[in-house]
Amino acid sequence: MTTTLAVANQKGGVAKTTTVASLGAALAELGHRVLLVDLDPQACLTFSLGIDPEDLELSVHHVLTKGLAPGEVIIETDDGVDLLPATIELARAEADLLTRTGREHVIKGALEDLAESGVVYDWVLLDCPPSLGVLTVAALTAAEGVLVPLQCETLSHRGVGQLLDTVHDVRRFTNRGLVVWGVLPTLYDGRTNHARTVLENISEAYDLDVIEPPIPKTIKFAEAPATGRSILATNRRSKGALAYREVAENLVRRADAK
Ligand code: ADP
Ligand code: MG
Repeated sequence: MTTTLAVANQKGGVAKTTTVASLGAALAELGHRVLLVDLDPQACLTFSLGIDPEDLELSVHHVLTKGLAPGEVIIETDDGVDLLPATIELARAEADLLTRTGREHVIKGALEDLAESGVVYDWVLLDCPPSLGVLTVAALTAAEGVLVPLQCETLSHRGVGQLLDTVHDVRRFTNRGLVVWGVLPTLYDGRTNHARTVLENISEAYDLDVIEPPIPKTIKFAEAPATGRSILATNRRSKGALAYREVAENLVRRADAK
């Protein structure tokens, strides 16, 4: 059975894309079939997996707004995961979809088409853009769970309430079964009390699970995207790679328990 997770937080720079790329690679290492979907017009996920968006003729934009079969667009990457890539054209998708009936369901529908065509993944990870617009709502509608990466070094959790309001609306109108799997602490510097405090406050204030372990802040992450591989390949034994592998194992345990 496929587990589809949206990685969402309308704040930029909280490690959504890094989390999608790293968890994807970690799940692939464990032998799982993984599809990553780039839903950000900035196409950082696509770029970080070694694909130049400018070289692409077809992208997720064509799937969501022109009804192209996802199988026509999906690319295999060196990290062992498949990718539904984005290009800057996706910036138009929000506007194109706004007047469409059923726009919240476009991603769900595309993933169902894919499954019906016989392409089955164990995991689909949706890399959401830094907004709570149509694409994020469509991702939440397609997902069974949400991971919320949260940067622990600042009070970046101020926006979490808004995200949870959106999750609530999605649950009410388009996806009853949606569950917040938890907050994933990122850019975590465990040496500071401040980071610990931020973390404790968020789980209490919003009554959310915290996914273990926190992802440590390390310079290695800044280097990975330029190589076209995730940190799991570029720095196999780094603290960050080890943390993402452990998170992946915890997610697999949770999926197995379904
Ligand atoms: P988002 O998708 O939420 O905007 P990104 O994944 O693009 O965030 O990450 C933002 C920046 O932070 C990138 O430059 C990335 O390399 C860096 N980064 C992500 N995770 C870490 C980490 N654990 N330690 C250090 N830098 C990180
Ligand atoms: Mg991103």
